[in-house]
Amino acid sequence: MNIEKTKQILQELPSHVELIAVSKTRTKEEVDEAYRLGCRTFGENKVQELVAKYDPKYTWHLIGHLQRNKVKDAVKYADMIESLDSMRLAQEIEKQCAKIDKVMPVLVEVNISQEENKTGIAYEECINFIKECQQFPHLDIQGLMCVGPLTDNQADIEACFESMHTLFQEAQEAFGPSIHILSMGMSDDYELAIKHGSTMVRLGTILFGKRDYTI
Ligand SMILES: *Cc1c(COP(=O)(O)O)cnc(C)c1O
Repeated sequence: MNIEKTKQILQELPSHVELIAVSKTRTKEEVDEAYRLGCRTFGENKVQELVAKYDPKYTWHLIGHLQRNKVKDAVKYADMIESLDSMRLAQEIEKQCAKIDKVMPVLVEVNISQEENKTGIAYEECINFIKECQQFPHLDIQGLMCVGPLTDNQADIEACFESMHTLFQEAQEAFGPSIHILSMGMSDDYELAIKHGSTMVRLGTILFGKRDYTI
């Protein structure tokens, strides 16, 4: 855990930007340590991992691609699903939330970089997708999420973030203030994301150090 860096980020983030501490591959002890430093919301990309570390004191966001057979557990434990990326997933979340009488806060993941291996709703389809999701009473769409392009080229990253910001504003115009979260920015690009209107950053490596996927 990068204690000084974590403290610094918690102190220096603008007040309109929420920090999600991405705790995938980290132990519950590391999550507890981050909590003691002031982190309150944790991001996991696998449901099993979230369930294993679950602690009702903390707020949990699912940020990774969600398979439909995991939705039943996901809606039980997650406080927000940031990675709504298909209509079939929306239908399944609706179905499982109806069973437990829960309204699920969600963000629509947008495939902004149009890289082939990326999930998400296409930019052009996003407004329509949100419109169609209005039929689901157990989904509360609160905004948009994206993963920036995999490049070191700052201009390309900024162009992506700027078009996300434009889309976010369009969604606010279309659906009103219920759309209030723009989740964009990770360890390598969160400062650029904030410059382009991000209201939620998802930071893993910069807080916890490099991930070891072999454990
Ligand atoms: C892993 C992950 C992050 C955090 O990435 P870092 O580069 O470690 O900050 C953020 N968002 C998503 C969707 C992730 O999967």
